[in-house]
Amino acid sequence: MSTRPPSAADLIANHGGRVTRTRVAVVDALDASNHPLTHDEVAANLSEAEVPHDRVTLYRALDWLVDKGIAHRVAGSDRAWRYGIVREAPHQHAHFHCSGCGNVFCLEQVQPAFAIALPGGYQLDRAELILHGICPTCRQAEPTAPSPEPR
Ligand SMILES: [Zn+2]
Ligand SMILES: [Zn+2]
Repeated sequence: MSTRPPSAADLIANHGGRVTRTRVAVVDALDASNHPLTHDEVAANLSEAEVPHDRVTLYRALDWLVDKGIAHRVAGSDRAWRYGIVREAPHQHAHFHCSGCGNVFCLEQVQPAFAIALPGGYQLDRAELILHGICPTCRQAEPTAPSPEPR
C-alpha cells in the first residue's frame, strides 16, 4: 500500500508489458492527476507532453493498464469512462461524481460498507459505488448554492 513503484516504466515492466512511450506517458498523466481522467483528458496530456498518439493506441494503452490492474476505470453519470491509477488493492473505494465540474474523484478513505458485510460464501472481487453531488472546489465557487440540511 505504501510502496510506490519508482517509475512508470518499472511499473509497466513489472507487469510483463512492453515499455512504450505511450504507456509511460499515460501512467505519468494518470499518476499526476488527483482525479481519474477521461480519454480526452489523457489525450490532451499526451499532446502537451508531445507524445505522438492516436485514439486507437491510447485506448489500447488504457485497456492494457486496466487489464493489468495498474489503472482502474469508472464511469460517470455521463457514461464516459474515467481512468485513474490504482494506489491500493483491491480497488474497492467509493467514487464521487461532481455534477458541477463533471469530474469523478476517488474517495480512497470511503470503503463501501457492503464490502465487509457480505453474507458468507460470497467473495468480493470488485465493488463500485458512485456518489453524486458537488465537489469542494465547485461548492466554494458557488457560495450561494443551497446546502442540504436534513432536519
Ligand atoms: Zn466539481
Ligand atoms: Zn478510484
